Amino acid sequence: MSDHCQSCGACCAHFRVSFYWGESDAAQGGSVPARLTIPIHSVYVAMRGTDQHPSRCVALTGKVGEAVSCSIYEQRSSTCKEVMAGDEQCNKARRAHNLSPVIDQPQEAAEILC
Ligand code: SF4
Ligand code: SF4
Repeated sequence: MSDHCQSCGACCAHFRVSFYWGESDAAQGGSVPARLTIPIHSVYVAMRGTDQHPSRCVALTGKVGEAVSCSIYEQRSSTCKEVMAGDEQCNKARRAHNLSPVIDQPQEAAEILC
């Protein structure tokens, strides 16, 4: 886990968080609550709130840059799990929120927001 994430949340309020619809609970074995997603393509959905500007996932609670958590942490998508604190995407999102870059080795964002 990265300590940075608990006081950040920038990646949940910057990118369009999209993934295969089968990861939603509309499909057998899916986990992400379908009510929190919107269709963006015939086979892809996105977390509500992330397909707009400014972007902010509806599952994100708290204040970006201060204290945040993911209200569906255990059910989040593979896309969410891919972001690593300190990786390129992370620091791109942090820059967009005027937060300093994470310079540690990339660590799983997981427990932040999780
Ligand atoms: S992965 Fe990076 S941008 Fe996302 S919450 Fe963690 S520190 Fe912030
Ligand atoms: S980790 Fe949680 S709050 Fe962040 S984009 Fe994914 S579902 Fe939304």
